[in-house]
Amino acid sequence: MYQPADIYRAADQLRTVRTEWAALLIAIETPPAATWPPAQLSTHLAQQQAAEADLLVADRAPLTLRQHPAPANLTALDAAVRVEGLLFDLADTLAAAAQRPIGRRLVSSPGRPEVWADDAADAADPRRWRFRSPTDPGSRRHGLHFAALWVEGRLLDEDTAPERHLDGSPAPALFARLPEHLRHETIRVARQCERLVLRALELDERETPVEGRPCPWCDGELILHTAGGKPPRVTCQTGPRCPAPVAIDERSRRVWEVAGLPALVSALGRALY
Ligand SMILES: [Zn+2]
Repeated sequence: MYQPADIYRAADQLRTVRTEWAALLIAIETPPAATWPPAQLSTHLAQQQAAEADLLVADRAPLTLRQHPAPANLTALDAAVRVEGLLFDLADTLAAAAQRPIGRRLVSSPGRPEVWADDAADAADPRRWRFRSPTDPGSRRHGLHFAALWVEGRLLDEDTAPERHLDGSPAPALFARLPEHLRHETIRVARQCERLVLRALELDERETPVEGRPCPWCDGELILHTAGGKPPRVTCQTGPRCPAPVAIDERSRRVWEVAGLPALVSALGRALY
């Protein structure tokens, strides 16, 4: 049996999948780095720079997975394909079970034989998940972001209250609350997707010694720290004696948080690009 905390954790996991998605798409085109800077840093910094320059959305909207004739990082591509498939299929399943059928409207004139048609406004409601057909990708065309947000909305019971059609007539809620087994399934898929994305980006919780690149200030060993969905950081193992111009963490190590990483990367004597 799941607890409310499991639902919020799953929603967080879906958010992590969304926020790291751009990094994963960049990683597909980036050869795995055997040397400095490690992929965890370069993809993160590239993502940050692109976001700051506001290029990311313009360049990659809507962050869809494209055909990659020659992917540079097969692990990243494999993870992206699997995550997209898992979330798209889950959205299909949830929509089939919990999304209100499109309303029907009488379109014939009084006194004529009755003709009913789909309510176009209801069908066009942007909150709906659209199934794909042989000729139309449906909501899948909007990419992973939309699917992850949509699934999160179902998990959090959004839009489950009765509402009104545009003409003011009452309409049942757009979505029913998910039945238990689909809530379980959604929690399971969210966890699986987050794990796939973080592992492909090597951002799951781990500490990696930075090989061959000692601290520029004290020659000590540098360690790269990553932890599920949080920005990477680097520490110097020397301790507070290290004169690097950065703060000291809770274990008395000099620490480069995300804002200080570009300076560290350039101090290590190699530009990122
Ligand atoms: Zn140092």
